[in-house]
Amino acid sequence: MSIVFAAITPHPPILIPAIGKENLSKLKNTSEAYQELEESLYVREAETIIIISPHGLISSGSFTMNLSPEFILSFEDFGDLVTKMKLVGDIGLAYKIRESLETKAPLQLISEPNLDHGSGVPLFLLAQGLKNANFQRRQAKIIPLYYCGLDLEAHFQFGQLLKKELLASKNRIGVIASGDLSHRLTKDAPAGYSRQGAKFDKKLIEYLKNKKTSEIIKMNEKLISDAGECGLKSIAILLGILDGIKYEPRILSYEGPFGVGYLTAEFIFD
Ligand SMILES: [Zn+2]
Repeated sequence: MSIVFAAITPHPPILIPAIGKENLSKLKNTSEAYQELEESLYVREAETIIIISPHGLISSGSFTMNLSPEFILSFEDFGDLVTKMKLVGDIGLAYKIRESLETKAPLQLISEPNLDHGSGVPLFLLAQGLKNANFQRRQAKIIPLYYCGLDLEAHFQFGQLLKKELLASKNRIGVIASGDLSHRLTKDAPAGYSRQGAKFDKKLIEYLKNKKTSEIIKMNEKLISDAGECGLKSIAILLGILDGIKYEPRILSYEGPFGVGYLTAEFIFD
């Protein structure tokens, strides 16, 4: 099997040390979960990472794949002028995916070397370890992917189509669904408080834990929009990729100290 790693990650810029500073300690569980993921990604020797983000170019009717020989992570939008990192794109696999999906799914290509924070935060935290672990050559190549305005079912189906291409590849592939859960957990939450926020997060985590994929894809639209999340469609694509593959879900952490639900989870393969 060529899919060797799969995870759900949150993307608060606070996790970047130069941005989070003293606030970083409030995300201790998430930081520790990220360390576990980093080790796992390294041990599983992922060669290519597909990262699904909510914060790149989001078009209404078409998924977007970002193809570039080189990507730059920078967090200048968050006042951090220091942190920077370069990553290499997997152009070969991206082209293959485009070619085979061309007639089957709405997929557009862009070339944008500067990555959004939805891709940037997880990649900075996870791909860094690969680079530091002596072997430069083990730094994984990446393919950033952005979800779109279509419904959850379309995202799940897109994941199913993508899976076929990933399984046909000789590369060892990791898939990361980047996304935060409700932004409305507390009175001082960025999107204002809603009782539905915590309810949505709890339900989604319960469904993930029990592999109730079809319940996730059918989740109530009103509940989803009241929750004010950004991660569900990333997760729907990942679940499509995992459909039919044997895995065990592991919830590594969930916390929301700033009113936004941060879930970190890994899917373990045999
Ligand atoms: Zn987000």
